[in-house]
Amino acid sequence: MIYGLDIGGTKIEFTCFDDDLHKLDSQRTATPVDDFQKFIDTLVTLIQHADEQYACQGIIGIGMPGVIDTRGRSLSANVPCATGRKVAETLTARLKRPVAVENDCRLFALSEAHGGAGAGYSHVYGAILGTGAAGGLVVDGNLYRSRQGIAGEYGHHPLPATLREKYQLPLLNCGCGLTGCLEPYIAGPGLANLHRHRCGESVDVPALVERWRAGDKDAIATREIHMDLLGAAFANLTIAYDPDIIVMGGGLSRIEEMYRDLPQAIESHLFAGFNAPIIAPPKFGDASGARGAALLARQTLGK
Ligand SMILES: [Zn+2]
Repeated sequence: MIYGLDIGGTKIEFTCFDDDLHKLDSQRTATPVDDFQKFIDTLVTLIQHADEQYACQGIIGIGMPGVIDTRGRSLSANVPCATGRKVAETLTARLKRPVAVENDCRLFALSEAHGGAGAGYSHVYGAILGTGAAGGLVVDGNLYRSRQGIAGEYGHHPLPATLREKYQLPLLNCGCGLTGCLEPYIAGPGLANLHRHRCGESVDVPALVERWRAGDKDAIATREIHMDLLGAAFANLTIAYDPDIIVMGGGLSRIEEMYRDLPQAIESHLFAGFNAPIIAPPKFGDASGARGAALLARQTLGK
């Protein structure tokens, strides 16, 4: 039995899988974000109930937003009570068994590489593009783990000076504490930021997509700038990792135009003669959080 937990800023999705990763059941509960003790108690209760229900001790994988530093401490804007805390160590002490914890965007990549849109490829990059922009690389089925665990945070590459100049973009602060990262330009809120900057009008992403599909020139111009910036972001990824395929996730992955326009946008930022990787929609999408956590548990803690 494998338990995959996908912890977000509002809810925890707890899914039980059999050893072949077939989903047996799933439940959702609110995430206690302000009280670490309550947060841990909630996870322990979910796990102990499942142990009783299945009369076993399941192995446990957890996906969380944010980064986990070299000493096992979380840094998470969405679950503030976990910041500076050692989630895996605390749970291991309570449950008397090891627990695997990883960044949720990297688990998305792991899930899509195993039986998902990236199945059959050696180098699979999973790129979440929703409220934020983050991802991870899977090489031959295993998550690439860098020295400090920050490799793959593609939303925090700097906005290229050439593009800032070309589109006369404002210099924006990023949620990470730096200024001029790509994330506030390319993630969902970034697309809306670009449009507001150009047209002085606040339009949400679904309305913007509707407008450009209806032929609205301003919305189309915003889309083209966004695509150029995203092309630069994915060209950076290509230069760093040269993946076979980039599987998109998050809210913007539902925009079909991405798959048509991105390869060319990437190639315009690469040296001549080099190709963009395949850009593909996800197979599991939002279900990849819990599934990726279970895969991680099976890979690292399974027999
Ligand atoms: Zn940043």
